[in-house]
Amino acid sequence: MKQFFDEVSDESRWQAVETRDNRADEQFVFAVKTTGICCRPSCSARHPLRKNVLFFENVAAAVDAGFRPCKRCQPDKPAPEQQRIDRITEACRILEASSEPIVLAELAVRVAMSPFHFHRLFKQVTGLTPHAWQKALRAKRLREQLNEGEGVTRAVFEAGYQSGSNFYQQANEVLGMTAKQYRRGGARATIQFVVGSCRLGEFLVAQSERGICAILLGNDAQSLIHELETLFPNSSLDVGDESFARRVAQVVSVLEHPGQQVALPLDIQGTAFQQQVWQALRQIPAGQTASYSDIAQRIGKPQAVRAVAGACAANKLAVVIPCHRVVRNDGALSGYRWGVDRKRQLLEIEAKQREE
Ligand SMILES: [Zn+2]
Repeated sequence: MKQFFDEVSDESRWQAVETRDNRADEQFVFAVKTTGICCRPSCSARHPLRKNVLFFENVAAAVDAGFRPCKRCQPDKPAPEQQRIDRITEACRILEASSEPIVLAELAVRVAMSPFHFHRLFKQVTGLTPHAWQKALRAKRLREQLNEGEGVTRAVFEAGYQSGSNFYQQANEVLGMTAKQYRRGGARATIQFVVGSCRLGEFLVAQSERGICAILLGNDAQSLIHELETLFPNSSLDVGDESFARRVAQVVSVLEHPGQQVALPLDIQGTAFQQQVWQALRQIPAGQTASYSDIAQRIGKPQAVRAVAGACAANKLAVVIPCHRVVRNDGALSGYRWGVDRKRQLLEIEAKQREE
């Protein structure tokens, strides 16, 4: 039997019960000797007398000791919050399994929720409206189909775009080039690049037709070019022309003075989730830091701490998307795609600029 016998923590457990603190729901259950029932700390039922209460590690331990789960707070079922997340996850699976867009009302019915609550919860869990989520899904499918060598019209259709006047226009918007160009290996869409050195070491700046698409840092030009090839396997790489070189000068100025505002066209390519994280990173002022969980909170997905770290690591635009301003919860620097020393250096530069 796993009953707790620790007076000090029992005091804090009782406090959690008295305040109906739902953060404690995952940590223990309490059982009432007089009724034979066990509850989550957040249970809304009237509180028993302290002297009749026992604490258990989990509902199984309480049941072993002869208590029945409360019908109101259902400690033997997943937490309500988890149940809601599960429904949204199920909705995402339904969308993924369907080749056609599904209207909100229908989707809500399929996960047994009202359209209003479904819409709100979907946004809360995924950060996107069901409509925007489906749009991102179609975009991903289209890229996959085209990468598999599917014909353009067919690929656009199979990705779930409805035929009509904006049939191609939508697809173009998503791909950043026409579907035909994309199909031909990006028509070998050209990416211009320049390598050079700045006070952070060697850098590479690359630009697509839509804007700056990569800013990489490293120790030697050769490996930076190799990294660029890996990031954009379907594009042909070309050494930048003179007008591009002028734009690069602006980028270098940002690399050397990271607090500076950037007025450059950026071609930010990533999943909907990554884009959200990167947007949140750009809101962290220079000279300040945030933790991975801060960012997860800010984008409304407090559970997604690991995925946030993944999105930071996938950033292709060094300094301009300031993933160097994200540190561990305890303030430790943690990893940096372009080396922890460089991260430290950047934060020092920013701290200094702030004093000036
Ligand atoms: Zn209860």
